[in-house]
Amino acid sequence: MSLPKQPEVNIGMVGHVDHGKTTLTKAITGKWTDTHSEEMRRGITIKLGYADAAFYKCKDVEPPSCYVSNPSKCPNGADLLRVVSFVDAPGHETLMATMLSGAAIMNGALLVIAANQKCPQPQTKEHLMALDIVGVKKIIIVQNKIDLVDDDRARENYREIKEFVKGTVAEDAPIIPVSAHHDANIDVLIEAIEQHIPTPKFDPSKPPRLYIARSFDVNKPGTRPKDLVGGVIGGSLIQGKFKVGDEIEILPGFYILKGNKVEWEPIHTEIVSLMSGGKYWDEIKPGGLVGIGTKLDPAITKNDGLIGRMAGKPGTLPPVLTNITMDVHLLERVVGSREERKVEKIKTNELLMLNIGTLATVGIVTSGRDDTVELKLKYPAVAEKGQRVAIGRRIENRWRLIGYGIIK
Ligand code: GDP
Ligand code: MG
Repeated sequence: MSLPKQPEVNIGMVGHVDHGKTTLTKAITGKWTDTHSEEMRRGITIKLGYADAAFYKCKDVEPPSCYVSNPSKCPNGADLLRVVSFVDAPGHETLMATMLSGAAIMNGALLVIAANQKCPQPQTKEHLMALDIVGVKKIIIVQNKIDLVDDDRARENYREIKEFVKGTVAEDAPIIPVSAHHDANIDVLIEAIEQHIPTPKFDPSKPPRLYIARSFDVNKPGTRPKDLVGGVIGGSLIQGKFKVGDEIEILPGFYILKGNKVEWEPIHTEIVSLMSGGKYWDEIKPGGLVGIGTKLDPAITKNDGLIGRMAGKPGTLPPVLTNITMDVHLLERVVGSREERKVEKIKTNELLMLNIGTLATVGIVTSGRDDTVELKLKYPAVAEKGQRVAIGRRIENRWRLIGYGIIK
């Protein structure tokens, strides 16, 4: 289904594994986002999935039934409200870095909580913490699998949710009961999205910046050389606009070994196509996820090879940082595991996992003082002063969120 406009807002699907994020994405957009063979085999989301939907209001129908994503359901026609893009994040505890990359491009999020389990489950907590750390404030709580519980349990689960969100960024978030599996109450959810997750304001004077969240080789095996197309990068513009024909720079670019020294070389290419919401455009603005066709060798872009990098007009991107200094704010307790232990101070020489925009990289602490930490990064980040960084530490063989830093 092609969409009438470019998507204008990105909404994350977050929450504990198996609570119904992918099923809900399908119920709203009509599209399954688990399409990789490994995802289908294991039944879990591994990479970020994208799916777009257009929301309509049926003419001559009362709310909430008038809110639909398929206008053919309207007896007397419909008015287009908005085109939105969903980012389906993995809920498995080992995939937090991918979830955090997704959070970097979310303007709002649906926190999916299954009513048939006690709330909160470990990644329910960890994902809400991640939204808070990355600065995603527009949140709707979706109480899913309502078909599996009786009235009493639904009410009890509602109280558990209220208790859990007390004092968090989601304290006043609406709680919408649905059954994603049975398409029940999806109209009420669309109405809530329209009311609570606004489209961010667009400032045309800012230089374009694209967070790269995926990259691909879209050529089918066996394509003849003359029919091959260049590498495709996928991600979200966080500001400015891109046009077909624009020269772009991708930082930090390729790494080259010179002797035993690693050097990073910026990548320059040209935009040959822009795809968003299943259609080609001459120009795109922020909102939604865009696929950018380039003149790059697809070997560079295949298998998410350019994930975490930033694209923009040459000479306008933030600096490439290999060493960073941050003011750190640690959580009191480690979230994400069943037993919640205290967060210890950061020590010199320890390895931490950092998420900076869509980049996830390991860094070694070269100096750990009380509130200020210096790190050397394995992959350089393209980042500015004042930017937020999610900090993870390896605890019992898993990266756990322990706090955030602000780049100095
Ligand atoms: P995710 O890990 O959060 O993406 O969860 P999935 O969307 O993959 O759903 C996990 C399982 O729960 C699947 O077997 C779904 O069919 C099932 N499921 C999802 N939503 C509902 C619902 O509303 N009701 C019922 N009964 N099952 C659901
Ligand atoms: Mg999933």
